[in-house]
Amino acid sequence: MGLLKPDSSVEYLKGVGPQRAELLRKELGIHTVEDLLLYFPFRYIDRTELNTVKELNHVDWAYLRLTIGDISERGHARSKVLVIQGYDHTGTVDLVWFRGGQWVRDKIEKGKTYLFYGRVQNQGYGLSIPHPEIEGDEDVAGKMRYVPVYSSTEKLGSKGLHSRGLARLTEALCQQIDFGEIRENLPDYILGRHHLMSRAHSLKLIHYPATAEDITRAQNRLRFEELFQFQLRMLFNKSRRKRENNGFLWTTTGPIFNDFYKTALPFELTGAQKRVIKEIAGDLRSGKQMNRLLQGDVGSGKTIVALLTMLIAVGNGYQSCLMAPTEILAQQHFKSLKELLKKLPLDIEILTGSTKTPARKEILSRLKQGQLKIIVGTHALLEDPVIFQDLGLVVIDEQHRFGVEQRSRLWSKARNANPHVLIMSATPIPRTLAMTQYGDLDISMIDELPPGRKEIMTKHIKDIDRMTLYKFMKEQIAMGRQVYVVYPLIEESEVLDIENLQLGYDKMLEYFPLPDYRISVVHGRLKPAEKEMEMQRFAAGRAQIMVATTVIEVGVNVPNASVMVIENAERFGLSQLHQLRGRVGRGADQSYCILMTADRLGKDSLARMKILCNTNDGFKIAEEDLRMRGPGDLSGTKQSGLVDLQVSDVVRDHVLLESARKLAEKIIEKDPALDHPVNRLLKIFIGSRGRKIEFSDIS
Ligand code: ADP
Ligand code: MG
Repeated sequence: MGLLKPDSSVEYLKGVGPQRAELLRKELGIHTVEDLLLYFPFRYIDRTELNTVKELNHVDWAYLRLTIGDISERGHARSKVLVIQGYDHTGTVDLVWFRGGQWVRDKIEKGKTYLFYGRVQNQGYGLSIPHPEIEGDEDVAGKMRYVPVYSSTEKLGSKGLHSRGLARLTEALCQQIDFGEIRENLPDYILGRHHLMSRAHSLKLIHYPATAEDITRAQNRLRFEELFQFQLRMLFNKSRRKRENNGFLWTTTGPIFNDFYKTALPFELTGAQKRVIKEIAGDLRSGKQMNRLLQGDVGSGKTIVALLTMLIAVGNGYQSCLMAPTEILAQQHFKSLKELLKKLPLDIEILTGSTKTPARKEILSRLKQGQLKIIVGTHALLEDPVIFQDLGLVVIDEQHRFGVEQRSRLWSKARNANPHVLIMSATPIPRTLAMTQYGDLDISMIDELPPGRKEIMTKHIKDIDRMTLYKFMKEQIAMGRQVYVVYPLIEESEVLDIENLQLGYDKMLEYFPLPDYRISVVHGRLKPAEKEMEMQRFAAGRAQIMVATTVIEVGVNVPNASVMVIENAERFGLSQLHQLRGRVGRGADQSYCILMTADRLGKDSLARMKILCNTNDGFKIAEEDLRMRGPGDLSGTKQSGLVDLQVSDVVRDHVLLESARKLAEKIIEKDPALDHPVNRLLKIFIGSRGRKIEFSDIS
């Protein structure tokens, strides 16, 4: 059999076949063998060294050779937990299974030695490794020294395509695909000058590295390529936009803005808010399309700025929409805008996935006729039936979630010219990075909080002192306050995280029993209606405690909730912790944020907790975040998630980003339309689509 072409169906790869091919398509969007090649591992298991039990305090992930000691079951009935003791010459550790215990028991024998790989947990009662991967001891002499780890799904896993199954496929793929047919995206002059390996070579090494250096070089090449593509496309479009120079010209702020400003403004604007509004009004008067990023820490007052901007649009006869990433957030915006507008003769509506048909029809027709001037919504606003008569302004509350490609779909909804765009972001990334990241946007900053805010007091409590937490919660509840208790939710270990939450909730029930206390529980496994009910119960004050996964991160606003407890805080990044903390401190009471962690913490985790306890300044925190997360952090988060980057991370890869940016600038400066023959590949490249994401033309 000859080699497979990149565009061959993945079905023809040895070990796949029709059934698995169908699953790969459905679950991961992998159609061709090239798609599979572009499905990158998110981590590697380092098979070059084994850890010992003694070292477990100092590592997050461990690869151990352990002999099996006692095997026991704890708990009862539906929450049975299998605990297996494993030991080496330095100590003993518990290996724990919350489910699938039978399968493990069949596989494992007391007194024998196996290899285990997993994440180390420290829950106060000692070290454990939940759901480790198991391998026979004899496998260790395998030829690969770094094993790629892929994310998989339950369905794929049930057909043998868990991470290791996928690794076997990509290994076979590297033998069978014709690498000579893999397209190159970067011209030779760039490859040479930046010492990059070819795309084909990097795609091979990313799945099948022999050394740590292979991984680094392949990752570098792919990350650079991605960052560069993004920068180049952005600058290309920006330069085209500047040349075309179109945009609605709004020369006045209009009567409704002035009315509102004089009679309905509920508070004096801060200096920063006033400055930002002037900057925005300047854009709208310029005759060019506004593309502005409004950055401000949580609670800095971006909503009123958005509203004032929308009122300028209305005053000039245009419609505006405000798009939020989640239903909850859209609802929240809708409520606060409606409240602000109550004295004005101006209607506002909300459109989301759950808007009922009759209401939807009515809204759509009023939008089309132009009677409805302001609409708030979710992605539902992007759907085809949504037609505006005269869309002039798009406000996007980004809060991590919106991709560039979604932004651009709104553009197509405006006729004649591009609508003005205002993007609000609370993601505190350093200014320099924001400029790079949002390189095609102008930036306004609200760098001042409204007056009278009490600083949130942040405290770090270790698991061993958990009683202190419960006591504190009881005191606060007795004073009439409400408490959030948040658990991390990380995709890769979603099931475990929910079990974690469940355990925490059970424990909490013991200390906060009915009928004196009521606890709401919210997590991603609940149906929307259940979620809504639980949220409402808390929002209405009928529950004093809300236990939740990070869903509330962009969610509820309950001023009476003045305590934020973050469980497993060591597992969150700094910025995310800061965002979560921003959920409290909205009301008049003193607010608190309690960071709960394991008793023993790594140096970095400890440093993160210290920073949070010491400052409330989002930008300071972002700078620290950048400083602490040096390059080479394989676990690199998509937390910054401002654009859909598959392999790179603007924080971790900021050095690469700077150089990609500089290169893109140089190229666009010399060849703004990329018409020169040496840039032929580049012109194709910026037009090409990512594997999963349909990038439309960005602004
Ligand atoms: P964010 O920037 O996080 O979106 P919001 O717009 O939701 O912040 O504002 C947070 C809170 O601060 C709201 O309750 C809002 O009414 C209030 N607020 C905003 N600006 C001011 C101001 N200038 N003076 C007093 N309160 C303000
Ligand atoms: Mg907001």
